[in-house]
Amino acid sequence: MFSEKLPIDLSLVNGVSGDPAIFGFFPRTGDGILLDLGHIDSLSNKDLLKVRTVLISHTHIDHFIGFDRLLRVNIPHGREIEIYGPPGIIGNVQGKLRGYLWNLLEPDQLRFTVHELSKSGDILTARLTNSSRGESRFEPEYFVSESVGCLPDETKLETMLLDHATPVVAYVLKFPCRYHVLPEVLNELRLSPGPWIRQLQVAAHNGRKEGDIEIDGKKYSLEKLIKKLLNPIKPSSLAYLTDFSFAWDNIKIIKKTLPECCAIISESNFKDADFSKALDKKHLTTRQAALIAAYSKASELQTFHFSNTYTDTFDTVAGEVQSFFKEFSAEPQMTLKKLIDQEITRI
Ligand SMILES: [Zn+2]
Ligand SMILES: [Zn+2]
Repeated sequence: MFSEKLPIDLSLVNGVSGDPAIFGFFPRTGDGILLDLGHIDSLSNKDLLKVRTVLISHTHIDHFIGFDRLLRVNIPHGREIEIYGPPGIIGNVQGKLRGYLWNLLEPDQLRFTVHELSKSGDILTARLTNSSRGESRFEPEYFVSESVGCLPDETKLETMLLDHATPVVAYVLKFPCRYHVLPEVLNELRLSPGPWIRQLQVAAHNGRKEGDIEIDGKKYSLEKLIKKLLNPIKPSSLAYLTDFSFAWDNIKIIKKTLPECCAIISESNFKDADFSKALDKKHLTTRQAALIAAYSKASELQTFHFSNTYTDTFDTVAGEVQSFFKEFSAEPQMTLKKLIDQEITRI
């Protein structure tokens, strides 16, 4: 999806115009995640069973109808699933679970941990399980969690709440710096691979340089070996932005939260010419998505969630986004601010 190599493989489950659902796979750990839960019928059971974490932007039906499929696939396996979402998500998941009869399940066979994110930054977390009391009301057991957790492969998660006439959560995945071993240096030093490589990578990751590391009975300076043998791959990040209106309140939050050079997956529901429809539906146009990405100093922008009214012209919509993004990325921040102001006044 992006030219920059991210440590996650991403696929738009329903293409650029179907229900929002993105399957992310971490090749290093074998874990999967889902960004939104529109229809997921085309995902295999094998892929769905890799998913332990689901990030929901909001529960408009096109973003949440796939919950039942995830639930269905998971029943025989009884794995715990973690869900993040906007205010009300605990009740939404509870409502879905209560919609079925579960009298033959083993106690605690269904286990969901649901994190409800609020504008103040507070997180309300609840566990929803089929209880050992033999009833399946899925009463939430609340507990305190002070920060959003980590995703697979040491990926940090950040969230922000945007407005779409309802709170919508946008997500930023921050991938850690990686240290790759240079094979030619390994050969040159006549070292054979072993658990010491992981120790060296951990030391580099933690910024530890003092002292030595012992390999095959011989001591090496930690600092010198890290410098010579490990190639640091710079940290990268990915933002998922969908379903919000083009307003300074939203744009400022995005600008503040996104690191520079972030790869962005964003909605661009409408073409520039249809900006009044975007205003009406609290969505973005191609121009607006590109303005936000350029203003946030994004490295790349991929858009989706195109309106179905553009049948057969999806390439035109995608092309419009990319030409705006190229144009705006060359502009200084002051000009972009003015362009955003003008776009808001145009509204
Ligand atoms: Zn939507
Ligand atoms: Zn929506």
